Amino acid sequence: MTTSDVAPDATAPERLLLAQVRPRLLMVDDEPIDIQTLYQAFAADHQVFIATDGEQALALCASKRPDLVLLDVEMPGMDGYEVCRRLKADPVLRDTPVIFVTAHTDETSETRGLDAGAVDFITKPINPKIVRARVTTHLTLKAQSDLLRQWVCTDGLTGVRNRRYFDERLVEEWGRAQRQNTALGIVLLDIDFFKRYNDHYGHQAGDDCLRRIGATLDAGLKRQGDLVARYGGEEFVCILPNTDAQGALHLARLLGQRIVDQQIAHADSSVASVVTASFGVCSATGRCNQGADDLLRGADAQLYLAKSQGRNRACGTSLPQPLP
Ligand code: GH3
Ligand code: MG
Ligand code: MG
Ligand code: MG
Repeated sequence: MTTSDVAPDATAPERLLLAQVRPRLLMVDDEPIDIQTLYQAFAADHQVFIATDGEQALALCASKRPDLVLLDVEMPGMDGYEVCRRLKADPVLRDTPVIFVTAHTDETSETRGLDAGAVDFITKPINPKIVRARVTTHLTLKAQSDLLRQWVCTDGLTGVRNRRYFDERLVEEWGRAQRQNTALGIVLLDIDFFKRYNDHYGHQAGDDCLRRIGATLDAGLKRQGDLVARYGGEEFVCILPNTDAQGALHLARLLGQRIVDQQIAHADSSVASVVTASFGVCSATGRCNQGADDLLRGADAQLYLAKSQGRNRACGTSLPQPLP
């Protein structure tokens, strides 16, 4: 076997990633001596947070968002199993890996820990080398799965969210709007005369243009919770929670201006000398008895209107409310 036959180290990028940032570790134990041993094993190259009971541990998980939790089982008040169960029930924190560190060596305890959602189980007395090796393994796995999750949701060309992510979020956001009776705005946009752009400047330049538009839209969304995704081809879509038709139309026009401000030359466009886009906007409140699909259909119809009225503009509507 020559060296060229050796498979590249699949974990190399993630190990590099781990080496560049100091991973955040939460240590939870009511025994000061155990905390001290763990602290000494990790403090040099990890950010360490310490909790001495379950309540504190959950509060620190929420505020510090650790990359991994080392969790004692026996503690006064809430025990480690319960802490782990609560973490795994929290949609934001459930992916945080938990390793139990405990004096219990029996099969039942270990099974209980793994059933509660832990990824590993280490027995006391603490052997710093073993704990470090296992923590590194699980941090690497976590970094890999985070990366994978990110890839699955990202459009490969433009770097904004992809259609799959958009479809999931739209249903989620529409559900939230219905529960909370808030408005939800959708902005659908399509680049004007983009076929001619490709024909004139080449497909590579077309790809570059799509990247710039994606970045421009991303930079133009200011509120936390706003989202831009590539809807397909040269179409993008924004989800705007808590935004009525007027607000969404206002934002669409700002985004249109930002695209014009990029001054991407488009010699073959019939509407301007630079790249422009047409926008269709639709908004509804949670009380409206139609579905997320209707919202999207509404935006699509408005986009068609914007195109037929001359392009480089935004048209908007809102779905009707049911009678009180
Ligand atoms: P309109 O103003 O009516 O929207 O005209 P248009 O030319 O933009 O619309 P049309 O649907 O005729 O053409 C869309 C073009 O977008 C054709 C297609 O080749 C191009 N396109 C779609 N996806 C990509 C891509 O990923 N990269 C590049 N470079 N071009 C793409
Ligand atoms: Mg204890
Ligand atoms: Mg199109
Ligand atoms: Mg187009």
